[in-house]
Amino acid sequence: MTTEQQRTSIVWDYAPAPEATDHVRLADRYGIFIDGAFRDPAESRYEPTLNPATEQPIAEIAWAGAADVTAAIDSARAAQPKWAALPDRDRAKYLFRIARLIQERARELAVVETLDGGKPLRESRDVDIPLAAAHFFHYAGWADKLRYGVNAREVAPLGVVGQIVPWNFPLLMAAWKLAPALACGNTAILKPAETTPLTALLLAEICQEAELPEGVVSVLPGGGDTGATLVRAPGIDKIAFTGSTAVGRDIQAALAGRPTSLTLELGGKSANIVFEDAALDQAVEGIVNGIFFNQGHVCCAGSRLLIQESVLDEVIAKLWRRMGRLRVGDPLDKNTDVGAINSAEQLQRIETLVAAGEGEGAHRRTIACDLPEHGYWFAPTLFTDVSPAHRIAVEEIFGPVVSVLSFRTQAEAIEKANNSRYGLAAGIWTDKGAKAFEVANALRAGVVWQNTYNHFDPTAAFGGYKESGFGREGGPAGLRPYLKVVR
Ligand code: NDP
Repeated sequence: MTTEQQRTSIVWDYAPAPEATDHVRLADRYGIFIDGAFRDPAESRYEPTLNPATEQPIAEIAWAGAADVTAAIDSARAAQPKWAALPDRDRAKYLFRIARLIQERARELAVVETLDGGKPLRESRDVDIPLAAAHFFHYAGWADKLRYGVNAREVAPLGVVGQIVPWNFPLLMAAWKLAPALACGNTAILKPAETTPLTALLLAEICQEAELPEGVVSVLPGGGDTGATLVRAPGIDKIAFTGSTAVGRDIQAALAGRPTSLTLELGGKSANIVFEDAALDQAVEGIVNGIFFNQGHVCCAGSRLLIQESVLDEVIAKLWRRMGRLRVGDPLDKNTDVGAINSAEQLQRIETLVAAGEGEGAHRRTIACDLPEHGYWFAPTLFTDVSPAHRIAVEEIFGPVVSVLSFRTQAEAIEKANNSRYGLAAGIWTDKGAKAFEVANALRAGVVWQNTYNHFDPTAAFGGYKESGFGREGGPAGLRPYLKVVR
C-alpha cells in the first residue's frame, strides 16, 4: 500500500438523514377535480398509487372515464369566457397566489413528489417544487403583457386546453403547462400520469385555496385511456402533451384533420460533448448531473456522452471514480443521489435495453452498491465500446445509463451528435467560447447547454426538433402555443 492509499484508507460515510413525513396531510382517497371540487368518478373506479421505493400503496386515486372527460370539458368551456374576460392583472393575481401557495406548501409537496415518484428528496426539494413555483411567478408576470410576447400583435386565448403530463417531473410539468395556459386566458384540463398523480391533486387543492374560479382548472387522474379519450373528445381547442414519442405520434394521428392545435414534447437521446480543452473535473460533474439526475428519467438527459479521443481514457477514469461515490437508495434520505426507478414497467424497459447493450458487444460497468430489498432500483451504469448503431446509442433508455462514444474532430462531434432521430438537448464542454457557439449553431437540438447541463429556468424556451416534438415551453416563446393572433 502506498503512503497516499494509507492516508486515504479511512472509510468516511454519511449518517442516515431521513426527511420527516409526519407533516404531510394525505387523504386515503382522491377523486377527480371538476368545477372547483373533488368528486367521485362516474364509474366509481379507484386505483392505488404506489411508492416505488417500497411498493406500498400511498392512496387510492380516481380513474377518470369518458363521462368525466365530458364533464370536465363542459365545466372548462363554461368557465373560459369569464376567465378570459377578467382584467389581465386579476388573472395574474390568481397565478401569483398559486405560486405563493406552492412555496408555502413546498416541504409537503417535495415529500409527496418523492413518495409517489421515487426521486431523491434533494431534487424534489431543490429543483421540482421551487421551479414549479417559479413558472407560476413567471407567467403571472406575463398575464398583462401578452401582446409583447407575440411581436406586439393583438392576441386571444385558444379556449379549452387538454394537458397530458408524464411521471418524471409531475408537479413541474403541470406547472409548465398550466401557468402559461391560464395566463393567456385559457381554461385547462390536466391529465397526470398514472404512477404519479398525487402532486397534481394537491395542486388542485391549491387552486381551491387560491379561490381560482370554478372550472378554470380540472384534474383528471387516470390512465392512458383517459388521455386518449381527452385527446379525441370534441370541445378541446388545444392539446399539450409531454411523454413518449410513440404516444405523441398516436395523438398527432388522432388530431390530423381536426382544428385542434397541438404541441408535443417527446423523447430524446441528447449528446453531451466533451472537448479536450474542457475543464475535465467540471465536465465530469456535468456528465453525472446530465444522466444520473432524477435516475435518468429526464427527456433531455445527456445519455449519449461524446468524448474527444485525446481525453477519452482520462474522462472515463474520472467519471467511473465519481460514479462510485453516488449514493443509491432511500429517496427520502437527504444524502441520496439516485432514488427509485418510477415503476416496475420502467425498470423492465431499462433492463431490456441494458441487456441489448451487452448483447451487442458494448462493455458494461455498473457501480457496486447495496440496493434495498423492496422497490424498483437500477444502479448507475456506464457503457463503453459503444458503436453508433447499438440500441443503447440510439434509443431512449430513460434510466441511469450512459453510453460513451468518442470523436476526433469538431466536425465529427457535430455529425455524431446530430446523428439521431431526436433533437431535444445537447451539452458542450469547452473553454473556447467561439467553439461553443459554432458547435451550438450546428446542432439540431432545441436546448444547448454550455459548460453546464440540465439547467432549467422559466424564462428560457424548451422544446425539440425532429422526433423530440414541436412547440416551445418556457419564457415568452411558451405563450405562443396558447394564443391565437387576432390582428
Ligand atoms: P407515455 O407517453 O405513455 O405517458 C405520458 C403521458 O401520456 C401519461 O400521462 C400517460 O398516461 C399518457 N398516455 C398514455 N397513453 C396515451 C394515449 N394513447 N393518449 C393520450 N395520453 C396517453 O410514457 P410512459 O409513461 O409509458 O413512458 C414510456 C417511455 O416514454 C419511457 O420509457 C421514456 O422513454 C419515454 N418518456 C418520455 C418522457 C419525456 O419527458 N419526453 C416522459 C415520460 C416517458 P399513463 O401514465 O396513465 O399511462
